[in-house]
Amino acid sequence: MPAGFGAGAAASEWSLSYTPFAMSRLCVILFGPPGSGKGTQAKFLKQALGIAHISTGDMLREHMAAGDGLGHEIAATIQAGGLVPDETVNLMVEERIELPDSKTGFILDGFPRTVNQAKLLVGLLAAHGIRPVVVHLKVDYNVIIARLSGRRQCPTCGALYSVTSNAPTVSEVCDYDGSKLVVREDDREEVVRERLRAYEKQTTPVLDFLRGSGYTVLDVEGADASPAAIARRIEALIRKEVGPAQ
Ligand code: AMP
Repeated sequence: MPAGFGAGAAASEWSLSYTPFAMSRLCVILFGPPGSGKGTQAKFLKQALGIAHISTGDMLREHMAAGDGLGHEIAATIQAGGLVPDETVNLMVEERIELPDSKTGFILDGFPRTVNQAKLLVGLLAAHGIRPVVVHLKVDYNVIIARLSGRRQCPTCGALYSVTSNAPTVSEVCDYDGSKLVVREDDREEVVRERLRAYEKQTTPVLDFLRGSGYTVLDVEGADASPAAIARRIEALIRKEVGPAQ
């Protein structure tokens, strides 16, 4: 199993050394359409900033893989590219940020996706005295559709590949365990289009809400350089925004 970096990225490409933040707790809200590279960037930033990575999509997929009650409840919604109810994800995030690895700070990847979720988050961060920074990854929708429909995943170890930028050594076969690669159900083109529609309709107003709540939004071009170079760009912007370590 690789370090968990997404298609086209490698941990060894990362060169910035870890420097802790001066403030007690930071929340980086990674914002951007599905397929904009949030998951890959979150993994780089987790390493660079030494804070937890919280992906609501990963948490929901874990429930589906475990086949538990919640997993069965949400499977149809996720496979259709829709959004899981706010109460479900809000509760998951509230509990998750109480875990010890979130105590120095955390990166939210895929949350908040609705104004209701954003309202909960603004209240939570204020109550805990956590400092928010929003990173808005901007990627053209045509690039996203091409990217996600070329994505492949190993059903055994979870490794991600891209048929264009990070192909396995043998076509459609996992480098790590030889399993036949699959297209994730929600990466199929019609589902990707549905996910982008859901993003436009429900999630774009979230950015306006966060701006209106006084949150700083850092806009970052998310497709014009390697994932590692984009991560360095984001880290520099965050460090400039929150100030140097003491
Ligand atoms: P992701 O991996 O972030 O693209 O999430 C995969 C799927 O999980 C989404 O298409 C939604 O169905 C569901 N999901 C993830 N995060 C949320 C959220 N914050 N609110 C509602 N549904 C979510």
